[in-house]
Amino acid sequence: MVQGRERGVRYGNGDNAVLRLVLWQVWDSKCCWCGEPVEYRNAQIDHIIPKTVRHARLQELKVRFGLADDFDPHDPQNLAPICVRCNPRKSDTDYEAPFLKTVLDCADNRRAAVISRVLSFGASGKVAERLLIARAAGLSDQAIREEFEEHAPLLARILSLVDYQSFVLVDVALNQSERCQAVDVSLDRRGRATKALVEEVCGSDLGSLLGQPIAQLIEDLDESIQSDFEYMDSDAPVRAGDGREYLTINVDTVDFERTDKSIRFLLRGSFSAGMPTSLLLSNPKDGAEQLQEGATLSGLVQCDVHWTFAGFEASECLLEELVLDNCSSQIHLN
Ligand SMILES: [Zn+2]
Repeated sequence: MVQGRERGVRYGNGDNAVLRLVLWQVWDSKCCWCGEPVEYRNAQIDHIIPKTVRHARLQELKVRFGLADDFDPHDPQNLAPICVRCNPRKSDTDYEAPFLKTVLDCADNRRAAVISRVLSFGASGKVAERLLIARAAGLSDQAIREEFEEHAPLLARILSLVDYQSFVLVDVALNQSERCQAVDVSLDRRGRATKALVEEVCGSDLGSLLGQPIAQLIEDLDESIQSDFEYMDSDAPVRAGDGREYLTINVDTVDFERTDKSIRFLLRGSFSAGMPTSLLLSNPKDGAEQLQEGATLSGLVQCDVHWTFAGFEASECLLEELVLDNCSSQIHLN
């Protein structure tokens, strides 16, 4: 299921410049075709399956690559940064290559991160816009560089007064499967102070600090949904929890507790997650399993992480409140 707010994040809807910057960031500043690092100013937005492809051809490609019926070529699942050298060289033969499936999979994995970052730009408004202009201007130009150096200290001072959001992308290895989930954790000023503390004092990065507790949160979410669905009014058994499309955690407060040899971090915040096509029904009459639309989840979470000189220990993520939307209404049996 695609939510209305998410639907807004697509090529041609609003500011493609922000979308271009975010794609470039989320793809680690690399061209999706040659894999080489690309400067922001030389990065363009690539429609992996070209936006000009004819309808019949698109239908063929959907079948071939197992894409959803409502596949939208302008959605971030079909967008990636491409360098100015590769872009003109893409030809129709490229669409046949198995390589294209790999690029599409990469885009799909990064879709949630792209969407939440684009949305955060929308919320923080002018500051992001100015940063974007400064970045696009190109600091290798001597005149621009001098101007930047002159004004940067002032900019930094202004930025320190503004509470803007930034993100940490956490790759979470899930215990029960081969899968890895990319989770976006948004940080305000205090969250960034935590990040700095973790990096400078603990010598680690916030991503690896949060990986294990978030994996646990994901397990708890799956369990809660599973038990919720078991109570549903249906003759058929229901199975839930077949992967999340996105998971975003907003850290609202951070507390520290320091002793001589250890630091305890207590992060609290809210989360939202989507689980499209995640419900499977086994119909006892014909044994058919049916893929359902899915659910959105939101709630409150508390993450308790304990660091000593030996490393991180006793980390846990507690699910404090869980709200499930759009589930029961979409269950239907053939
Ligand atoms: Zn390239």
